Amino acid sequence: MANVLILGGGFGGVVAAEHLAKSLSPEHQITLVSRSSDFVFYPALVRLAFGKCEVEDISYNLLEAMPNRRVRFIEAEVARVDPHARKASLRGSDIDGDIKYDYLVYALGRRLATEQVTGFFEHAHHLLGVKAALKFGEAARDFHEGHAVIGSCPGARLEVPVYETAFALARQLEARGDRARITIISPETPGERPGGADLANPLRPTLAAHHIEHLKSFPIAEVTAKAVVSGDGREVEYDLLMLVPPFEGASALASTGLADEEGYVRVDHTMRVSGAERMYAVGDAVYFSGPKMGHMAVRQAEVAAENLVAEIEGREPSAHYNHEMTLVVDEGGKDTLYLHKNLWEEGDKTIGRGRFWGWAKRAHEKYFQTQHS
Ligand SMILES: Cc1cc2nc3c(=O)[nH]c(=O)nc-3n(C[C@H](O)[C@H](O)[C@H](O)COP(=O)(O)OP(=O)(O)OC[C@H]3O[C@@H](n4cnc5c(N)ncnc54)[C@H](O)[C@@H]3O)c2cc1C
Repeated sequence: MANVLILGGGFGGVVAAEHLAKSLSPEHQITLVSRSSDFVFYPALVRLAFGKCEVEDISYNLLEAMPNRRVRFIEAEVARVDPHARKASLRGSDIDGDIKYDYLVYALGRRLATEQVTGFFEHAHHLLGVKAALKFGEAARDFHEGHAVIGSCPGARLEVPVYETAFALARQLEARGDRARITIISPETPGERPGGADLANPLRPTLAAHHIEHLKSFPIAEVTAKAVVSGDGREVEYDLLMLVPPFEGASALASTGLADEEGYVRVDHTMRVSGAERMYAVGDAVYFSGPKMGHMAVRQAEVAAENLVAEIEGREPSAHYNHEMTLVVDEGGKDTLYLHKNLWEEGDKTIGRGRFWGWAKRAHEKYFQTQHS
């Protein structure tokens, strides 16, 4: 009997848990630990902020869903993982202490390193959670004139909601007849990050059509009550501000030597953690280049689960992950963009445009919800 522990109840952890529950015989125990019992479909948070859906449309309860799938769910904070002793330290109302495992899937996502930008916590809105998205949505509804700044801080690895927020805000202002300026701020030029130019170039005419400006090479170092300030002292004043903060890996593996300098876990293409046995890592937590996206977490979780099952059954892990970027930027209408690109191999990208992709994105959200809740 193997005792499999999965840390993190996001896309990576949930998909790994379900895949393992389907593939492993019932004698093996599967436990999923996460700090919240709610699964949240993050790609819908922009729509939540702008009143296009309700919280219950985009979240479900893991405490109710997981036992039906033969997965034990524990709501707790993971303080530390000791990969050599094969144990994790948990703190929660039902458990406060160590939990042992035979095999581990590490899927704790990213940490929001807001402390890296002075004043972020006090002055900036963000979208990385239900409460934060609703609070930003309220501020956006009260915004009628002035300058809206929507952007990414250095180390933020998530551009889709930046563009989607700018488009949703532009449409809201247009519908009310309000006239305000919107500027997207990026820390570098799009060509400097993997896949960045592939996304920025096809969106340029769409931004222009909505009169959205794009300020590049502006690495935000400080946020004051009135302005964002770059590392070299330039200032841009704002009346409404939404920023994706810097990301880092979660701290549970600190001082194990398994993570890189930003805290992301080093894995090979089978999703096995380099330097540790019987340990896999998936999702935003891993050190692959480029944007951090839900569909990558899902694919990595499938690969990790398949290989973990092989390992438990005494076979060599043979499933391999290929790093591809597939995304939809919902413009709210006919300029919605679909992009697919392989990030590890040179090759063509596929681009699609049209309302269809917005429907497809929402259909995917519903499909995920019905399949997993
Ligand atoms: C606003 C927004 C829009 C997005 N849009 C898209 C999109 O259009 N397309 C796309 O593909 N991706 C999108 N993403 C990115 C996508 O949501 C992430 O890549 C995905 O959630 C990563 O999954 P994950 O399982 O690795 O991490 P997460 O989903 O972050 O899950 C990690 C889980 O671990 C838990 N956890 C973390 N630390 C601890 C701890 N110490 N103890 C206990 N539990 C802990 C967290 O509570 C969470 O449940 C978007 C994200 C946001 C925020």
